[in-house]
This record gives sequence, structure tokens and C-alpha cells, in this order.
Amino acid sequence: MEHTPGFLHAILDSINENIVVIDPAGDIQYVNRSWSAFGNSNNACMSGDDWQTLNYLAECDKASAMGDEFGANAAEGIRSVLNGGQPEFYLEYPCHSPDEKRWFMMRVAPLQLNEAGYFVIVHHNITERKLAEEKVSALARIDGLTGIPNRRAFDEFLHEECRRCMRLRKPISLAIVDLDHFKLLNDTYGHQVGDECLRQTAALLQETVNRPSDLCARYGGEEFALIWGDTAQEQARQLLNQFLRNLSDSRILNIHSPTEKYLTASIGLTSIVPTTDSDMDQLVAQADDMLYLAKANGRNRIESQGEGHPGQMTP
Ligand code: GH3
Ligand code: MG
Ligand code: MG
Repeated sequence: MEHTPGFLHAILDSINENIVVIDPAGDIQYVNRSWSAFGNSNNACMSGDDWQTLNYLAECDKASAMGDEFGANAAEGIRSVLNGGQPEFYLEYPCHSPDEKRWFMMRVAPLQLNEAGYFVIVHHNITERKLAEEKVSALARIDGLTGIPNRRAFDEFLHEECRRCMRLRKPISLAIVDLDHFKLLNDTYGHQVGDECLRQTAALLQETVNRPSDLCARYGGEEFALIWGDTAQEQARQLLNQFLRNLSDSRILNIHSPTEKYLTASIGLTSIVPTTDSDMDQLVAQADDMLYLAKANGRNRIESQGEGHPGQMTP
């Protein structure tokens, strides 16, 4: 069969990938049908019917000037292939529409045609893989037993929230909650009942975190950790007192506990206005110290430090 230009165009138009060919100056020389169709349905990313007049690099630079880091990375990568700095360039980038999440992989490679040098840019939709990765990543941050965030999620969140409060010069409060004589509860009623108590405790603690700047995580076996961003210690203490009352009202039996015949918890609470990254580790260490004190002082209580409020609170 003869390979007419029409035949070759038809092949390129049948491909799902968005294909653009540019000359060494970045001027667009050719786009396939997928590229135009995608461009027409999508104003956010580079698009348009008038592609013949567009300079690909100029469009990337425009996006970059508007603060799009992917535009900047794309422009840099394309230029490095154009000037022979590297044989090809790959970039994964998001291109979300208002009602759909989408990601693409861009590949830039030279295309030698007779004497003329061109560059072919292919955009391949990688949304399915990215969504699967997001799901795995979210699952890796959830505790399997209680369904709340795990320690890894907590560490990441604390880091982010500490930095945010540092910028805003706002206080951050952190608590570590440890169930009292939980080993006795397991020994008395069995591990499965223990598991159910952990789920109930997690649900009660979840009620104390209501804003995007708050988080409650399972920190270890029968330990939970809570963060309240932009929250002074007094507010956090009120939330924790309410939790202790709710736990007490739940009347979860722990008949051999020397503290109460119902399940109780000890809490270490601390608050600071962060000034450096290292305050984060200090915050956890202080909450731990306060938890230790709460245990030593008889359990079923909150001990706190920071913000000029040292001392003890009982529920
Ligand atoms: P304290 O008041 O000093 O905190 O005493 P405790 O018995 O709560 O503390 P200890 O550290 O001696 O025991 C913790 C118990 O928590 C022992 C362990 O079996 C139980 N535990 C940890 N993870 C789980 C879990 O996932 N499910 C159940 N059912 N129990 C757990
Ligand atoms: Mg413990
Ligand atoms: Mg305990």
C-alpha cells in the first residue's frame, strides 16, 4: 500500500495520545486530532484551534509566569532537548478540569526529517495510574483497625501544621492519649473486645477534631495523638475534658482496673507558638513527658505544659 500523507495523517489522528510537532524555535508545525480535541474541551491547559500561530515555548513561559511550576519545568526540559543538552525529556504533570482529575506524561524527542530538524511532543494520559497511586498512598496513611490516620499521617500532618502555625505566629496544641490499664482490659475480656474498645475510643476522639487544621491519629497500640492547629491550650483542654467525660459516660467495663471500674485515659497536652522546625520534635517529647506525669499522678487526667499554663486538670 502506498503511504500517502492522508494515510499517515489518518494514523496519527487515530492515536489517543496528544501529539504536537514544533520547530527548533518552538513554533507549532503540526498537531494531531487528539491534541485539538483535548485543547477545545479544556481551556486550562494549552489549547485552541489557532494552534498554527502558537509558540509552544512561549505558552509554557506564560504558564510559568503565572506561577505554574509545571510550565516552568516543561519549558526548561523542552529547551534542553532543543539545544541538544539531553536526547529526550519526560515530565509528569497534573491538568485537572473542574469536574475531573487528570494527569499526563509529556515526552519530548527530536524528529529528523530529511535535512530539517523538528521535535515531537507527546502527551500521554496517565490518570488511571495516578489515581491508583493516590489510593495506595491514602491507604498507607490509615490505621487498619480504627480507620483513622496512622502515625505516618500524623508525622506528616504535624510537620505541615507546625510550619503553617510558625508562618502565622499562631499556637499549635498537641495531645497524646494513652488508655489506662488496657492490658488488664485485654486480659479480662479478650483481645477482640480490646479491639472494639480501641475503635470506640477512636470514634470519641474524632469528635474533638473538626477543622482541616486538626488531626486525630492512632499513634501506637493503645495510644492516640491529636493536633489542633491555630488553637490555644485552653480550647484544646476543653475538647479533651469533653472526651474524658464522653469516655466515662460510655461505661466501657475494665473491672480489674485500680483506677476506675470503667475504661479511662491519661493525657499529656502541650502547646507552643512554633518558631523553628525542631519545635515539632520538642512538642511531641513534651506531650510524652506530660503523659508520663498524668500516669504517675493517678491516671484518668490531663497534665499540660506550655503557653504559661503548667499544671494539672482532672475531668
Ligand atoms: P498504663 O495505664 O500504664 O498505660 O497500662 P497499660 O496496660 O494500658 O499499658 P501497657 O503498655 O502495659 O499495655 C498496653 C496494652 O495495649 C498491651 C497490648 O496488648 C494492648 N494493645 C496494643 N495494641 C493493641 C491492639 O491493637 N488491640 C488490642 N486489643 N490491644 C492492644
Ligand atoms: Mg501505652
Ligand atoms: Mg496504656
